[in-house]
Amino acid sequence: MDLFLAGAFWIVCAAIASQVGARKGMAGAGFVQGLMLGPLGIVAALVSRGDRKECPYCRELVHSQATVCSHCCKGIDQVETSEVRCPHCGESGQMNVRLQGSKVECPSCHKVFSTEGHEPRSAVIPGINS
Ligand SMILES: [Zn+2]
Ligand SMILES: [Zn+2]
Repeated sequence: MDLFLAGAFWIVCAAIASQVGARKGMAGAGFVQGLMLGPLGIVAALVSRGDRKECPYCRELVHSQATVCSHCCKGIDQVETSEVRCPHCGESGQMNVRLQGSKVECPSCHKVFSTEGHEPRSAVIPGINS
């Protein structure tokens, strides 16, 4: 009987974790987590972002493939990036063009630099046929 109760409890945990996961597009993963971890699986499903990303406008979690936020209806896929080079360590990377002209932190050396007026890549490389 105790075993049955424990089993039922575990199933209930899996069901709840599945429900929590379903809202994040990961019902199956939530169920498995609940089944394996019991109450901890629910917690794991709660803290997991699942297959979601955060909307930059309203901070709600939306599906990672979504192009329009289901909460605030703003388009969220038009994130144009441009290459930017860190003047401190020379590391180059992609940055959101909306950040152009503002200060960004280099993910490599963590120095803050202004992206304003950074040269296009072709202009950075000096000509070799001189
Ligand atoms: Zn939104
Ligand atoms: Zn750097």
